[in-house]
Amino acid sequence: MAAQDLVDPFGRTIRDLRISVTDRCNFRCTYCMPEEGMQWMPRSEILTFEEIERVARLFVERFGVDGIRLTGGEPTVRAHLPVLVAKLARLGVDMALTTNGATFRNLAHELREAGLRRVNISLDTLDRAKFEQMTRRDELPAVLDGIDAAIEAGFDPVKINAVVQRGVNDDEIVPLARFGRERGVEIRFIEFMPLDAAGNWLHDDVVGQDEIVARLAAEFPLEPVPARGAAPADRWRYTDGGFVGGGGMVGVIPTVTKPFCGDCDRVRLTADGQFRTCLFETREFDVREVLRTGGSDDDLAALIQRAVGTKWAGHQIGQVTFVKPRRTMSQIGG
Ligand code: SAM
Ligand code: SF4
Repeated sequence: MAAQDLVDPFGRTIRDLRISVTDRCNFRCTYCMPEEGMQWMPRSEILTFEEIERVARLFVERFGVDGIRLTGGEPTVRAHLPVLVAKLARLGVDMALTTNGATFRNLAHELREAGLRRVNISLDTLDRAKFEQMTRRDELPAVLDGIDAAIEAGFDPVKINAVVQRGVNDDEIVPLARFGRERGVEIRFIEFMPLDAAGNWLHDDVVGQDEIVARLAAEFPLEPVPARGAAPADRWRYTDGGFVGGGGMVGVIPTVTKPFCGDCDRVRLTADGQFRTCLFETREFDVREVLRTGGSDDDLAALIQRAVGTKWAGHQIGQVTFVKPRRTMSQIGG
């Protein structure tokens, strides 16, 4: 069947599907999970690789989605991840993975062989003690090694995601940028969002894009790169040049201070098969139910179209109307 665009009520065409493959994680980042007591989804509720592939295929072949990102939880803790990557690679779309990088050395080569091209690795600090404080794991050396493994295995681009929290790691903005320039990887600073399990998010903890860029510009010569399109990051180029690969650029994802909802082309599938039209949505649509009760592709497509028909104009973070989703970032799939 010919591709048919999925267009939401605000005229935005859906092009990007984020698939969470697990809610579990080997880290406990303070801005995401509690130290203990996380209730994992029962395994029977998690979509199988075959179910994920079926949904992904429908999005690609029927709805013309051309980008898939695998995330979690920590996607690399899902057993046999390269098998899923190989299945999805056959769909022929741009595929990326977001990971904390701690075990990436073990998987990099196999994932690359399976057809994964792009990877984002999360790294919020270069200071080992602070890393342990933020992730509750002493894994900085493993993550740095994971970044090297990604570069060596030929992932292109390798990007680094860094969540910035005031008073926690905002003194790491310039060192992380320098690290990116030297390693040839693009650092993308992410504004802290109210999706932490502890519910401790405060507006004052957010270091906004303007402040991040001002701190970078005080240290390095920068010029903005025009036209973000549907991509969440605004980007700047270092004008003193000479950096390998993505090291010539730096990005900021300004979800809180400059929401990019007007250009959003993303939808999400949680590990337990719930379809969401926004990270911050409170409504979910039960794709798993359709999959497991013998629903046809037309039934699935109808549910997805109905869901996309409810996609809102944008989130309300910072306003009195904002309602925190019941699920946290790790449960939705960041
Ligand atoms: N475990 C993988 C990782 O950490 O990269 C993938 C899942 S994680 C939920 C995806 C991204 O969301 C990571 O870059 C993480 O730093 C970011 N993230 C988690 N909680 C966040 C929050 N409250 N605000 C902003 N970003 C957050
Ligand atoms: Fe795990 Fe990623 Fe959440 Fe950290 S941000 S606890 S690595 S899912």
